[in-house]
Amino acid sequence: MPRALMEAFPVTSPAAESVLRTVLTAGGPTSRAAIGHRAGLSPAAVTKAIRPLLSAGLVVEHGPGIVGTAGVGRPVSLIAAEPAAAYFAGIKITADEIVAVCMDLAGQVRASEHVTVGSHAPDAIVDQVATAYRQLLAAPPVAAHRVRCVGVSVSGDVDRTGGRVRHSPFLGWRDVPLARLVGDATGTAAVIENDVRALTLAEQWWGLGVGATSLAVVTVGAGIGCGLLIDGRVLVGAHGVSGELGHLPLGDPEQTCYCGRRGCVETVASAGAVLRRIGAVTGRTPSSLAEAGALARTGAPAATEAFVAAGRVIGLAVASVVNLVGPERVVITGEGVPAFEPFLDEIRRTFAEHAFGAAARAEIAARPLPFAEWARGAATVALDGAILASRGRRNG
Ligand SMILES: [Zn+2]
Repeated sequence: MPRALMEAFPVTSPAAESVLRTVLTAGGPTSRAAIGHRAGLSPAAVTKAIRPLLSAGLVVEHGPGIVGTAGVGRPVSLIAAEPAAAYFAGIKITADEIVAVCMDLAGQVRASEHVTVGSHAPDAIVDQVATAYRQLLAAPPVAAHRVRCVGVSVSGDVDRTGGRVRHSPFLGWRDVPLARLVGDATGTAAVIENDVRALTLAEQWWGLGVGATSLAVVTVGAGIGCGLLIDGRVLVGAHGVSGELGHLPLGDPEQTCYCGRRGCVETVASAGAVLRRIGAVTGRTPSSLAEAGALARTGAPAATEAFVAAGRVIGLAVASVVNLVGPERVVITGEGVPAFEPFLDEIRRTFAEHAFGAAARAEIAARPLPFAEWARGAATVALDGAILASRGRRNG
C-alpha cells in the first residue's frame, strides 16, 4: 500500500474515523452535537477526534451558526469538510467509453473527461484510463498533488481487496490485476470495485442512502444489477459476488443468457433483450434502448409489449430482493431509466403483487443516472479506500 495513501487521513482512532465519515456525509456544515449524536460519541470524544482533522486542514470551523428552534437557538460553531483539501479520481469503464471525474472531499464533481474505447484488451483499456486521468489532472481546479487515490469501477466479478477483475463478460476479461496496472500507469494508488457496488457506496455517502441503514440500488440498462446496503454496509458477498439481480432465474426459461445459464432476468429485461424482442416481431431492431423507448411512447405494439414484459420481470426481481432483504427504499436507476419511465408502474404493480406483508412498504424511487454519477461512485470508492488504508496504518 503506497505511503501517500496510508497517510491521507489522520484517523488515529475508531472515533476519529467515525467523526470524519460523519462530517463528510453530513451534506453541509453541522454541529458537534449532531456529529456526536450520529456517531454515537460523547461531546468530549467528538472534540478530541476533530482536533487532528482540523489541524490537517481536512475539516474547517464555520460559524457561529444558529442551532435550535426559532427564538431559543444558540450560536455554535459548525464543522464542515474543506472541499479542496483532497481530491479523488473516479473512472468508470464501459464497453465503448471511459468516463472520468475528479471529486473533492465534499463529494462534488470538479472536473470530468470522456475517452472513447477501441480495443477491450486490458493494456489498451489501461492506456485509455491513464489518458483520461492525465486529462483530469490538467483540468482546473484540480491540484494534482492533492489527488490521493484513483478508483476504477467495472461491471462483473471484481475482487476489491485483491485488486483483480476476476471476470468481466462485457470486456471479455478474466483475472486481470487492474488495480496494479492502473496504479503503475497513473503513478497514483488505485482501488477497484464492481460498478454497481461503487454506485451504491456513492448513494450511501451522498445520495438517497445518506442516513439509511438499508437500501437496494437496482440498475437497468445494458445489464440489470443490484447494490445492497444492509445494516449500513455495502454487501460484497463471501465470494465477491452479490446482488446479481440480472441473473436470478425469473426470465424466459427458453432463452439462454450471455452468462451461459437459462432463464435469467436479463434474457427479458436487459436493453439487448428488449431490442431483440422488438426486432423479432417487426423485422427491424431499434439501434438503442432510447429509440425503443421512443417507439413505445408512440404506442407501437411490439415496443410496448417488450417493455411491459421487461417491466414485469424487473418487478419480480425487485419483489425478490425486498422479500429477502427488506430495504427501506429501492432506487431504480441506470442509463435505461428514461426509456423505462412510462413502464415504472408495471414494475411497481408487479412488485406490489409479490411483496410479502409489510415488505410492500418499501418505497420504489426512480431516477435517471448519467455515466458521470457512476464515475463519482468510483471516486467514492477511492475516498473510502484512502480512509481504510489510513486505518490500516493505525492497525498495522
Ligand atoms: Zn445470466
